Amino acid sequence: MLLTPHWVFDDYAAVTPDFLRAHGITLLLTDLDYTLAPKSVREPDDGVRAWLASLKAAGITVAVLSNNRSPARVERFCAGLEIDFVGHAQKPSRKGYRRALEKFKTPPEHTAMLGDKLLTDMLGAKRSGVLALMVEPKGGAHTAWQKVLHTLQEPFKRGCAHDERTARR
Ligand SMILES: [Mg+2]
Repeated sequence: MLLTPHWVFDDYAAVTPDFLRAHGITLLLTDLDYTLAPKSVREPDDGVRAWLASLKAAGITVAVLSNNRSPARVERFCAGLEIDFVGHAQKPSRKGYRRALEKFKTPPEHTAMLGDKLLTDMLGAKRSGVLALMVEPKGGAHTAWQKVLHTLQEPFKRGCAHDERTARR
């Protein structure tokens, strides 16, 4: 089922270097908005910085794969983090994923995609043959649309064989 993620977690921090290593992952692609921070947060907090440092120390390459058309948001967030980004990725198209895999010379079986949206992050990941890791939206669902989206996504998360969330809604 193309819309079911491989794993579901509460938060990006649950995706540890040990977890990734155990799954043979050397390249972690990650969404930005609502995955690493709510959209309103312009700069990474200490938690994101510590998590990225732990991945780097483990030899795992991290790159932001974002659908933002303008690079300004992603550039500002990534500044000083020493991580790369692939912008205007057009998820769920395979194009952006392919660009990232080529850029980092990593085959799909050693790549994972982390994100909060089924129809972009997870669908693109599964179409591209990379491990699809889903998180709850960072900061929670606030707007009416976010709440609808959250509700619509929930059955697919529950259908996931590896739902690691501590509190299921
Ligand atoms: Mg997102």
